[in-house]
Amino acid sequence: ITFLQSLPKAELHAHLNGSIPVSVLQDLARESATIPGNIDSEAVQSGLEKLLNGIELREINEFFGLFPAIYALTSTPAALARATRSVLQLFLDGPTPECTYLELRSTPRATPHMTRRKYVEVVLHEIDRFNCTADGNGNGGTREKAALIVSLDRRMNAAVAKECVDIAVSMRKKGRKVVGVDLCGDPMEGDMEEFADYFRQVKDAGLGVTLHIAETTSNTPRETLQLLSFAPDRLGHATFLDDEAKAIVLRDKICIEICLTSNLLCKTVTTLDDHHIRYYLKNNHPIAICTDDPLPFRNSLLSEYALLLAERPFGLGLSEDEVRKVARGSLMGCFGLN
Ligand code: IMP
Repeated sequence: ITFLQSLPKAELHAHLNGSIPVSVLQDLARESATIPGNIDSEAVQSGLEKLLNGIELREINEFFGLFPAIYALTSTPAALARATRSVLQLFLDGPTPECTYLELRSTPRATPHMTRRKYVEVVLHEIDRFNCTADGNGNGGTREKAALIVSLDRRMNAAVAKECVDIAVSMRKKGRKVVGVDLCGDPMEGDMEEFADYFRQVKDAGLGVTLHIAETTSNTPRETLQLLSFAPDRLGHATFLDDEAKAIVLRDKICIEICLTSNLLCKTVTTLDDHHIRYYLKNNHPIAICTDDPLPFRNSLLSEYALLLAERPFGLGLSEDEVRKVARGSLMGCFGLN
C-alpha cells in the first residue's frame, strides 16, 4: 500500500455526485429532511436507503436510478459546495491522498435553487479555493491539484446541451478551471448524431473531449464509430469496441479511462480475467485507472490500483514497474496538465 500511495497518479474519471463520501451524504440527508417536500418522496427515500446501506446491482440500468436520490440532496448551492469540497478532500487531502491530480466531472443541473451556470460557478469556486493555497486552508502558495470536466448527459435535449457547452466554453475563455467536456449518462438513451456540433464547438475552444463509449452491448458499432468521429482525446469504459473501432483507438492512441470495479459491479464485465484492460495492456496502449463512482461502488483509487498489483485471479498480477507505468500514463492523459 505504501508503494501505491507514493505513486504520482491522476484520477481522470470520477463523477462528482457519484463520489460523495457516505458520511457527508448522511449529513446532507439529515439537513434536507428539515426542508418540507425535499426528500420525502418514496423514490428518493428508497434510493437513499440503497446508497447508505449498499446494494447489489442486477444490471447497469438500476445504477442510474440511484442518482435522483443524490440529486435531491445536492440541489442548493450550499449543499453542492459542501459535496464538492468533500469530494476534493476525499481524493486529494488527508494523510493518504488518493491521487496527485484530479479532473472531476459533473453535469450542470438546473434546480429550483440555481441555474446551470450557477451550478458550474459553485463547483469551480470550490475547485479554485482548493487550488489557491498549498494546503487548501489558506496557508502557503498555490497548487494545481483539481480541474473540472463539464458533462453532457445523453438524455439532454439540444437546448440544454447547447447551454452546457456555452457555459464550459465561456468559463474556459475567462481562464476558469474547466479543462474538458464529457458525454455520459444512461448508455441506452439518446441520439448521438445531435451531439456532433457541440463537440466540434468544444474542440474549437481548445477543451479536451472525453466520451463514455460502448459501455454496454446495446451500444451499436454504428454509434461507436459516430462517437469516434468527434475526435475524442479520451474514452470512458470502451468495453465493447469491435475490431474497426479498436483499430481507430490504437491508431489515434486515444487514452482509455478504465473503471474495473464499476464494470464488475454493473455487470458489463464478468471477471477481471475477461476485462478489456488486458487488451490495452497487451497493446501497450495509454490507459488511466479510475474509480467512476466511489459512493455506490464503495471503491477508492488506491483499491483500483491494488487490483492491478494483486495476484490472479483476484487481481491482474502486474509487477510494480508495470503499475508505475500505468500511473505515469494517467498523468500523461490529463487535459489540464499538458
Ligand atoms: P454528476 O454528473 O456529478 O451529476 O454525476 C452523476 C451522473 O454521472 C449520473 O447521473 C450519470 O449521468 C453519470 N454517470 C455516472 N456513472 C456513469 C457511468 O458509469 N456511465 C455513464 N454515466 C455515468
